Amino acid sequence: MSKTVKALLSCCVLASSVTTALAQEQVVNLYSARHYSTDEALYSNFTKATGIKINRVDADDAGIRARLKADGSASPADVILLVDAARLYKGEIDGLFQPIQSKVLNDAIPANLRSAPAADSGIAWFGLSTRARVIVYNKIKVQKEDVDTYEELGDPKNKGKLCIRSGSHPYNLSLFGAVTEHLGEQKAETWLKGVVDNLARAPKGGDTDQIKAVASGECDIAVTNSYYLARMMRSTKPEDTAVVNKVGVVFPNQQSWGTHMNIAGGAVARHAKNQANAVRFLEYLASAEAQNYFANGNNEWPTAKGVNVDNPALKAMTGNAPFKSETIPISAVGANVTKVQQMLDRVGFK
Ligand code: FE
Repeated sequence: MSKTVKALLSCCVLASSVTTALAQEQVVNLYSARHYSTDEALYSNFTKATGIKINRVDADDAGIRARLKADGSASPADVILLVDAARLYKGEIDGLFQPIQSKVLNDAIPANLRSAPAADSGIAWFGLSTRARVIVYNKIKVQKEDVDTYEELGDPKNKGKLCIRSGSHPYNLSLFGAVTEHLGEQKAETWLKGVVDNLARAPKGGDTDQIKAVASGECDIAVTNSYYLARMMRSTKPEDTAVVNKVGVVFPNQQSWGTHMNIAGGAVARHAKNQANAVRFLEYLASAEAQNYFANGNNEWPTAKGVNVDNPALKAMTGNAPFKSETIPISAVGANVTKVQQMLDRVGFK
């Protein structure tokens, strides 16, 4: 055999084996708005267990949505991880997801922490971790009893004391959507007006900035997601410890409808090319092992039934005792968002 023929043969044998390998390689393309180092272990464990490789694109929620819309049916996305119920709901309404039919997910994730069933009885998205929207307060200046309900954030007794991020941030849209579900639209709007009247300053910054503003004395009361406080509690920086020592925390509405819980969750992309792998990955995220990584990575609570995390900051925050969470369907919260945005305009909550 001539050298040329040999070379040609080896080239083509190689090419065909590459083609076979590519055809056999199982992948799932993940668009994630979560960026935590513990998620790495989560992904590599999945690949080890299933042989399915994860290609990850990190972006924020808005970036992911924009990309899905721009790419349309050409989108390579299979699984989408988003943070916040209002955003997941919006993704569903915008047709970015496809209904999932999975007994594993239906059995693992409580019905109030996933989307309402679509017409073809599939589920558009599942909550994979929860975070509480809690109230922090200056321990010296404020009595816990004056801030242990969301309603009191709008009570005239707290005038000039409150710091909160922008009313139109998804975390607040979801909280206000929940309050609207609990109180009804009219009372919720009166309450929102009261919240605006109680502001110590115009809304600015993120949740961590509100906690710091309480510690610095700029305000006496603030609203934050639990994991921002937990992060500061676990920090070894002296300035974070100083902040944490000055603030108290309450899980609001323990005597009524319970503390508002938001979620981070997952969905299968509308145009997923690796649909079966996508469902398999979401099912893995609902497993006990993965739930621990997923929740702990951002100091959150798992959603899957019967899974508990061992997180020192969350234990300290709750006094290691169970607390009452709201039980309304989280999909109802998202459905109220348009109403809430109109209310915010009317009461001048920027
Ligand atoms: Fe956040």
